[in-house]
Amino acid sequence: MPNDDPASRLAAIHATIAHGCKLAGRAPADVTLIAVSKMHDADAIRPLIAAGQRVFGENRVQEAAEKWPALREETPGIALHLVGQLQSNKATDAVALFDAIHSVDRPSLVGALARAMDAQDRRIPCFVQVNIGDEPQKGGCAVADLPALLADARAADLPVVGLMCVPPADLEPAPYFALLARIARDEGLDGLSMGMSSDLETAVRIGATHVRVGTALFGARA
Ligand SMILES: *Cc1c(COP(=O)(O)O)cnc(C)c1O
Repeated sequence: MPNDDPASRLAAIHATIAHGCKLAGRAPADVTLIAVSKMHDADAIRPLIAAGQRVFGENRVQEAAEKWPALREETPGIALHLVGQLQSNKATDAVALFDAIHSVDRPSLVGALARAMDAQDRRIPCFVQVNIGDEPQKGGCAVADLPALLADARAADLPVVGLMCVPPADLEPAPYFALLARIARDEGLDGLSMGMSSDLETAVRIGATHVRVGTALFGARA
């Protein structure tokens, strides 16, 4: 990796986002960088906080609950996004801990999250994860099931702000990002959570509002 301190890595990612925005005629302020800190400990996370990063992503409720309360005590104003699959029986913990959820993918989870939000009187923005490449092993709602799931979410008053995807590995991601963007537009949703370390500029060019970047900020995971 060319930039070996966290502040330089962060600056490089912001430059990539700015370049993608320039090509697309977008404002960099319209793209939120989520630093995905899964499998990295507090000592790895603190330098990024010191460099000014405030939005972080985790993929497991349990791991986030172990790491983040102490880090949040040290630095107010941290936002935590859940980017991994969520079991319905963890919905209560997830709503208490996270500020956004990117992995709503089935009716039972819509119900569990809506009940947890009602019980805690706390509404947090949600993205519906779409299995955009129709891959059997991958999480996310099938494209064909999306209208019904969105109708469920509206009926449950779940605050759905956009769509999220992880395109198939080893394939050119642009067509998948473009498909997600078109579906979101058709559904009247503004949020697009797409783009990771290897494809974030492409995602920004195609309209990502949230990019989820782990490896390019933290280095490889163990
Ligand atoms: C781990 C993860 C990321 C970050 O991936 P990198 O390739 O390390 O940038 C983004 N999104 C989701 C859903 C993840 O699980």
